[in-house]
Amino acid sequence: MADFDLLVIGGGSGGVACARRAAGYGAKAAVIENDRLGGTCVHRGCIPKKLLVYASHFSHDFEDAAGYGWSLGEPVFDWPAMVQAKSPELDRLEGIYERLRRNAGATQITGTGRLLDAHTVAVGDERHRAKTIVIATGGRPAMPAIPGIELAISSDEMFDLPSLPQRIVIVGGGYIACEFACIMQGLGSKVTQLYRRDLPLRGFDHDLREVLCEEMRKGGVDLRLNVNAVSLAREGSSIAVKTTTGETIEADQVLFATGRKPNVAGLGLEKAGIEPVDGGAIPVDASSHTGVANIFAIGDVTDRINLTPVAIHEGRCIAETLYNDNPQKPDHRDVATAVFTTPELGTVGLTEEETRGAFPAVDIYKTRFRPLKHTLTAREETIFMKLVVDRATDRVVGCHMVGYGAGEAMQLLGIAVKAGATKAQFDATMAVHPTAAEEFVTMYEPVPEPEPVADAAQ
Ligand code: FAD
Ligand code: NDP
Repeated sequence: MADFDLLVIGGGSGGVACARRAAGYGAKAAVIENDRLGGTCVHRGCIPKKLLVYASHFSHDFEDAAGYGWSLGEPVFDWPAMVQAKSPELDRLEGIYERLRRNAGATQITGTGRLLDAHTVAVGDERHRAKTIVIATGGRPAMPAIPGIELAISSDEMFDLPSLPQRIVIVGGGYIACEFACIMQGLGSKVTQLYRRDLPLRGFDHDLREVLCEEMRKGGVDLRLNVNAVSLAREGSSIAVKTTTGETIEADQVLFATGRKPNVAGLGLEKAGIEPVDGGAIPVDASSHTGVANIFAIGDVTDRINLTPVAIHEGRCIAETLYNDNPQKPDHRDVATAVFTTPELGTVGLTEEETRGAFPAVDIYKTRFRPLKHTLTAREETIFMKLVVDRATDRVVGCHMVGYGAGEAMQLLGIAVKAGATKAQFDATMAVHPTAAEEFVTMYEPVPEPEPVADAAQ
């Protein structure tokens, strides 16, 4: 006899969404969580990160205000006050997760879930049997095993540091490294970012990566490319970071933002007949099904697109399919995303590199300009926008932006891309003036075609 119709292991974004919706449809559902309900996004990710992003923008705003006639005293940032200020908000969000779960009628089980077989999960000495199990255990920071790595911190520790580091070295060139480089720079730290290849944010549109790199440097981040950390050592109150170029950089904190790995250790996957792929991710099909008849996996533990709305959507699709007679698969195409750097980066759809080769002919529209706001300030920041169009169908297949509000813009452009809007429809859309985003509907001329690459054999 099963105790539950649905047992979800992991009470983060995906797990709670799945259990809640299932319970709402009348399933007897439970969610097992060994830390705080809400998971990474609420406690160590999106939310506290975005609050720090807001905090970091004030230094720019104070500087820019002078151009508009304001004079201010010397602004002072109080890091402990900021750390303290965000805690009640995270508690409030956790409370909302808790209330929504309770109101939907899903049970919460506190502790670490461990599979004993395909239908049984142990939590401490308890055994819970379920018809269906969803694994939603998320991920955790991954750090390379270099000498002295124990002196470094991960993003998990960034949110509650006792003081603002005067000097910070950030290793990595992904979302987290770039975001924290800009946050810490805005808050007043001297930031050195080391990335092992030629441009950060591998996989994003090449133009976006170049522009962001330039803008981050203009903003004061000492972004060093083709450099990696090889070892760390304690030097008095500092940490000495030795790099692949033979240099040593002294810092008060060293953040390794070198990726994340799925949380599968101790989960007992082998007992249920699930074999993780290299790196630990749980392999799933398009319906988030593991191949074991009654077990699904969603969110970061599957290492597909590791974003909160994606985990939530994957969880809801399972609940719809199993408990609402409404079969649904998550659609992982055209997922809009933003990197909350300063300036922000936003993107949806295909990069120029992805389209070349995929379509016989592609038109590219780009613009880069100084935003109106900064015509009266000393800031050199620019905005970059780009549209990628499949010439045969006239469909806009990619929208890309670096600049203030890029995340907000992509949320809305994502609808147009998802709906298959054509360039002609973009052109027929009236601009909202004066905004930066109006440029997305006023880029009429494509950039010239790139010169054909000479054939090396000739
Ligand atoms: P999680 O939210 O990680 O939840 C998993 C839960 O399972 C955790 O609460 C964990 O404690 C629990 N757990 C693990 N093992 C067990 C077990 N055996 N038993 C019981 N419980 C267990 N995404 C965005 O979309 N936008 C952003 O701006 C953004 N910013 C981010 C910033 C940072 C610094 C980080 C680290 C991530 C960010 N993300 C962002 C990614 C986002 O947080 C994740 O994609 C999302 O939280 C994944 O949800 P999940 O449900 O898969 O896992
Ligand atoms: P990413 O995978 O985005 O980036 C990891 C970075 O670390 C890459 O630049 C990678 O380099 C580098 N790296 C990996 N291993 C090493 C190593 N041994 N030495 C030096 N550098 C190394 O991971 P993040 O940790 O930044 O973020 C994890 C995920 O969380 C993101 O992919 C995203 O899905 C999500 N997230 C989303 C956010 C948002 O929506 N705004 C914000 C933060 C996180 P290389 O390119 O060479 O592999």
